[in-house]
Amino acid sequence: MGRERTGRQPQMPLASSGRGKGPTWLLVLVTFSLAAAAPAIQQSDVVYEEESWSLPPELEPHLMWYLYRKLAFLRSPLPGARVPRSPAHLPGAPRPYRQGIHQGIDFVTGDCGVPVTVSTPVRAAADGLVIRADHDYQEMSPAERQQILSRILAGDRDPQLLDRLHGRQVWLLHRGDVLTRYSHLSRIPEDVVPYTRVRAGQLVGYAGNSGTSYGTLGSDLGVHLHWEIFVRGRPFWWGLRQESMKALLQFILEGDAGGQ
Ligand SMILES: [Zn+2]
Repeated sequence: MGRERTGRQPQMPLASSGRGKGPTWLLVLVTFSLAAAAPAIQQSDVVYEEESWSLPPELEPHLMWYLYRKLAFLRSPLPGARVPRSPAHLPGAPRPYRQGIHQGIDFVTGDCGVPVTVSTPVRAAADGLVIRADHDYQEMSPAERQQILSRILAGDRDPQLLDRLHGRQVWLLHRGDVLTRYSHLSRIPEDVVPYTRVRAGQLVGYAGNSGTSYGTLGSDLGVHLHWEIFVRGRPFWWGLRQESMKALLQFILEGDAGGQ
């Protein structure tokens, strides 16, 4: 077994080829299909990417269609919330304090159409299996958090370090190897336990600021829900330009009756 640290992603061959159109987009599908052969997602397999790349624009519709079909069953973890408008709250935004990029979607008061406080319920985005629920989370001290940041800035790529910055978390595994991750929670209901099932819309936690600088100070500031979606162990937005990723999210989360 052992931990599979995938490290940096290999360059996708199509990123540089750009010759024939047909075969090239087929390569995208083949690559994703190969990824499908991987075993079920495990916590240690989740890849954290610091770099990003984009598909050539003419290929994006194929990836968008693939992702739409994979993710259309998800609903917003905060009912009534819209996709954040600020690019800073979306994947790909720079995070200079740790020399990386933002991996998730930040639902925060003022940018997602609903208030987000420590009493805001966070709901399962779909039916799924709980694979992580940090009931025994202990908040870091400001000094501990600073130490973690220093190690990351010094080039330490241990995923556990980034994981600590996510605070109290719940992870849900859904059909089709889709995983959703809910970070910085303030509380988790007792019945949300690893290897039990949850239904779409079930309460899985409350928004919070655990793992953030405010959280370590015991402050109520900075409360938000950081939400991530993985498809077969990889961030769903990998390869998409930010405009396309945002459009995809809006289509999924605001497309029909749910969105406001
Ligand atoms: Zn975030």
